[in-house]
Amino acid sequence: MEYIKSKIRDVVDFPQKGVVFKDLTTVFKDPRAIHIIGWDLSQLYRDKGVTKVVGIESRGFIGGSILAFELGAGFVPVRKPGKLPADTISASYQKEYGVDTIEIHRDAITEDDIVVLHDDVLATGGTMLAAYNLVKSMNPKKIYINFIIELSALGGRNLLPDDVEVTSLIKY
Ligand code: AMP
Repeated sequence: MEYIKSKIRDVVDFPQKGVVFKDLTTVFKDPRAIHIIGWDLSQLYRDKGVTKVVGIESRGFIGGSILAFELGAGFVPVRKPGKLPADTISASYQKEYGVDTIEIHRDAITEDDIVVLHDDVLATGGTMLAAYNLVKSMNPKKIYINFIIELSALGGRNLLPDDVEVTSLIKY
């Protein structure tokens, strides 16, 4: 894990002043680091019968796809409005400034699915909670939540449902 940590790039004041952005492009471009990420993420869910990994646009698509591949599961994208071509359901949530909406295809998840929801970074948790509510409305058998990085000081974990197992590879 120290190797992965050494590859994360902190970008100060991005996308706005006061934010220290955890940039994972420097992890994913490193062959050894991307291999370790795939292995470590998949070890968390090896024996859980996961059938779908849901990745959140856009940085959650990278780790989510790797995790799905490692687990032999399918991959489902959660996207910004107007990007998915077929029939969708959507959820809106409050951001610091204004409201954001995310969408998923209506037929993406079935009641037989065991789902891992994945994003790269847990900050305030608002995005993941909205994604959780979308997937939950489709009644899968079980939902897990996963991040590569958790920014503990922002308390995002407290926003997520108590009865859901939340994992992260690296906590700050
Ligand atoms: P949240 O506040 O948890 O809803 O985060 C919103 C989105 O922005 C998530 O997809 C996070 O991956 C991303 N994000 C928020 N803060 C950071 C940060 N400091 N570094 C990298 N990504 C972030």
